[in-house]
Amino acid sequence: MSILQKILAGRWIVGTTVNEAIITAVDLSKLRINSMINYLGEDTYKKEDANQSVDIYLQLIKKLKQNNLNSSIAIKPTQLGLLVNKETINKNYLKIIKAAKKNNIFVWLDMEKYIYVNNTISLYLKYNSLGNTGICLQSYLKRTNSDLIKILKHNGVIRLVKGAYTESKSISYDKKDSTKNYSHLMEYLFEKSDNFTLATHDLNIIKSSFELSKKYNKEPKYAMLYGIRNNLAKNIAKKHNMSLYLPFGEDWISYSYRRLKESSNFKLVLRSLLENQKI
Ligand SMILES: Cc1cc2nc3c(=O)[nH]c(=O)nc-3n(C[C@H](O)[C@H](O)[C@H](O)COP(=O)(O)OP(=O)(O)OC[C@H]3O[C@@H](n4cnc5c(N)ncnc54)[C@H](O)[C@@H]3O)c2cc1C
Repeated sequence: MSILQKILAGRWIVGTTVNEAIITAVDLSKLRINSMINYLGEDTYKKEDANQSVDIYLQLIKKLKQNNLNSSIAIKPTQLGLLVNKETINKNYLKIIKAAKKNNIFVWLDMEKYIYVNNTISLYLKYNSLGNTGICLQSYLKRTNSDLIKILKHNGVIRLVKGAYTESKSISYDKKDSTKNYSHLMEYLFEKSDNFTLATHDLNIIKSSFELSKKYNKEPKYAMLYGIRNNLAKNIAKKHNMSLYLPFGEDWISYSYRRLKESSNFKLVLRSLLENQKI
């Protein structure tokens, strides 16, 4: 990483190469923390660039297997050809999920901007029967309630987040209502699903999930982003299934911008800088 990258993105990104991601994943595994590894990149318009990202994911899958790591990978459709054409995204997605399945690695489809939600869900459902895949849904979108019901009807695996992009008021909830909706969707997942992931750093939500766990006698999985609340993740991992989302690669600007935006509250930035996040 360059010095600039280190200063601006170093706390959220684990390096630029597959090997650096693997080193962090190995360290985390010693703390019972699983990794959800993402090769940074989005909004790819060239087929060659999309194909190059596929190659990196194939290398990653191979290395995860070699190191016997209990990790998943997280991929973004616009990085892999959604904006090139249907043929490219279908071919690339299939290549990745087939290689991952062969090596017993779970694949998560990240959810990007609202305009891509329909295509991402269609892609997910098209190949869901092959197994080994899950999809992220965002509680800040008004449409998510019906998407979640539909995906569960197709035996999909859901990772629930609040949502990280700026969306218009007509289609999305504000912060307070997206948190409220998260709680509502979480309870629905407890009722209807046996395999789901709660991806959040919101301690109130996490605490209420512990109560729901008792009520429904079900154990969800948890996930956080690397560098936000690592210490909390470490503690939760002592008793529960916890993953950290580990991004690596050169294309760090958009991801880091979203994290900065979320920590725009000055008190939050100060606290997160003072808190030792190193594991
Ligand atoms: C594993 C994982 C995968 C994700 N995948 C996606 C995806 O595919 N699509 C998508 O749109 N979004 C994704 N996100 C991001 C998510 O949508 C939120 O933007 C992000 O998690 C912050 O929301 P929160 O639930 O933590 O709640 P918030 O209410 O935003 O935060 C709760 C608390 O967490 C802490 N916190 C949160 N963010 C920061 C920060 N940047 N710096 C310092 N402290 C912070 C603060 O203490 C805050 O009070 C993912 C998140 C996780 C954890």
